[in-house]
Amino acid sequence: DPAGELARRAAVMAAAQEKYYEQPPQIERGWRELLIDTRGRSYVDMVNNVAVIGHSHPRFSRAVGDQLRLLNTNSRFLYSALADLCERIVAKSPDPGLDTVLLVNSGSEAVDLALRLARIHTGRGGVVALREGYHGWTMASDAVSTSAFDNPHAVASRPDWVHIIDAPNSYRGRHRGAAAAADYAADLAHLLADPDGPGGDLAAFISEPVLGNAGGVVPPEGYLGLVYEQIRAHGGLCIADEVQVGYGRLGSHFWGSAQQGVVPDIITVAKAMGNGYPLGAVLTRRDIAESLAREGNFFSSAGGSPVSCVAGLAVLDVIRDESLQENADAVGRHLAGRLALLAERHPLIGMVHGMGLYLGVELVRDRDSLEPATSETTAICERMLELGVIVQPTSERQNVLKIKPPLCLSRESADFFVDRLDEVLQ
Ligand code: PMP
Repeated sequence: DPAGELARRAAVMAAAQEKYYEQPPQIERGWRELLIDTRGRSYVDMVNNVAVIGHSHPRFSRAVGDQLRLLNTNSRFLYSALADLCERIVAKSPDPGLDTVLLVNSGSEAVDLALRLARIHTGRGGVVALREGYHGWTMASDAVSTSAFDNPHAVASRPDWVHIIDAPNSYRGRHRGAAAAADYAADLAHLLADPDGPGGDLAAFISEPVLGNAGGVVPPEGYLGLVYEQIRAHGGLCIADEVQVGYGRLGSHFWGSAQQGVVPDIITVAKAMGNGYPLGAVLTRRDIAESLAREGNFFSSAGGSPVSCVAGLAVLDVIRDESLQENADAVGRHLAGRLALLAERHPLIGMVHGMGLYLGVELVRDRDSLEPATSETTAICERMLELGVIVQPTSERQNVLKIKPPLCLSRESADFFVDRLDEVLQ
């Protein structure tokens, strides 16, 4: 009884607890990119950016189950899975300089730790973030989360160490055209030159390399390089929040920062890393990681536990052995191609953002004014649910269909999604 389940939650949980749909389906099990409800109906899950290797992957479940039966403890003991996982992450590093790993349990924790590392390492406090971003719910990650949708309160009462610049959204932002990268980067130059700005007290810049929470917006070419250059010239560190975009989702690159041609000083990762088992990490340079010792020891009770490490290793094994990054590239191209064709027939589609299996279909009422089709986006998602597809709105305006499915998405499921969307738009 989905309605009864919702009422049970309401009685014991906070109203702010997010949910998909007014009345979400009651899901019983998952398989690859499919979710199956208690009535036996299946849905193609186009939204879950955590279950990268697919729901209920047998190799993953077996590895985690076996380790749970044997032992779970913490990183104060020696067990080989911990160093194994850190070595495997370092082997995936986009740069030999990023060679040190700290394990935590979530994206918010990874971002929190990254900000803390930057502040300790530089001895400064200021952080620059992009508008429309989301980086987590803890005090520090929330402070740099700027989406007015996710976080209207924090937008109004931001602590003074956080400085916001416009996201380089060349579809609907202030700067368009060939010079957009330089124009957006100039916003940062103005901020850093401002005597009331963070220029003299700059610890870090944080952003998603490709702007997932803005709807999968790819920054204009060269933007991030120009930003990183200025941040470093002012003594700050560059943090790439790869919690959503990293781990092969882009298809062409394992990391979003590599796709953008930049090398961060600190990378945060979570979601995909544990395929739903809580696991996150910070990947950084040795000198930055060692600065933690100035504040004492670092320990997380469950971060890097044997079970989480085994989960993390199974995810990396499956991504490699089932060529999931390659699948994200191939199926993502197919999907983006078909969505572009839909856009020719349906004026509601203003833009298809993103790449790989990190796409956003931005819906507008008018292609000139770009008036967001917010209520239409919600209605489309509701109707898609009835037709067996789980897809959700994203972006500050809630007018972008968020497409971040498991990386094992089949071409058939991709087609099923596009065909249903075509039908609903019709
Ligand atoms: N950073 C980004 C870019 C995210 O998308 C999210 C989660 N939506 C987080 C951080 C926070 O991760 P978590 O929910 O695991 O704390």
